Amino acid sequence: MKADAQMTDARSHLLAAAQAMFAVRLSPGTSGNLSIRDGDGFWITPSGVPYDRLDAKMMVFMDMKGEWSGPLKPSSEWRFHLDVYRARADAGGICHTHSLHATALACRGEGIPAFHYMVAAAGGTDIRCAPYRTFGTQDLSDVALTAMKDRRACLLSNHGVIALGPTVEKALGLAQEVEVLAQQYILSRQIGGPAILSAREMETVLEKFRTYGQQPARA
Ligand code: 13P
Ligand code: ZN
Repeated sequence: MKADAQMTDARSHLLAAAQAMFAVRLSPGTSGNLSIRDGDGFWITPSGVPYDRLDAKMMVFMDMKGEWSGPLKPSSEWRFHLDVYRARADAGGICHTHSLHATALACRGEGIPAFHYMVAAAGGTDIRCAPYRTFGTQDLSDVALTAMKDRRACLLSNHGVIALGPTVEKALGLAQEVEVLAQQYILSRQIGGPAILSAREMETVLEKFRTYGQQPARA
């Protein structure tokens, strides 16, 4: 059992991320969900609660066996959250959205190719789209994990986006980046189609990303 202070802290943290996702309009209605890893399990948003009615006390703790207790049911997508935490040591937080342009592409079963160097932000030379499976199923989790191999994000056919990160804020930031990329890709296709960067150039970008931005202070 977790100490009260630790619990409140993790739940408030998740609430702030869920409210931030709502504020940037990344997922309409009660669509989408978020979670944060916490010790021997993770906190996940409850199923079907509108974002503006969410409260820290409504967050659900699930252990790594997929067990939970409490008055509210966890997100219907707890299976892919659980499987991502089991499979990916680099996941400290997960964000699932139905963001507009990424979902439009996913409704065609299309991923995002290397049309822009920022595609590398998801960890590879493209962002894949997993085949359609019913929401909330183990099948959906299985195809999503395959599509996220060596990547931190994927699209889900006829559904939306999953992004992971070392923190839930980074996962949310990546989900926003995927949405912007999807919009840019769609716009570019409407004016004749983008030029696609070579695999070699994308490898150069991936290498540069390893040292991009402010690195930890030098001793
Ligand atoms: P939940 O409200 O159960 O999290 O479901 C939303 C969703 O996006 C299902 O894919
Ligand atoms: Zn969904």
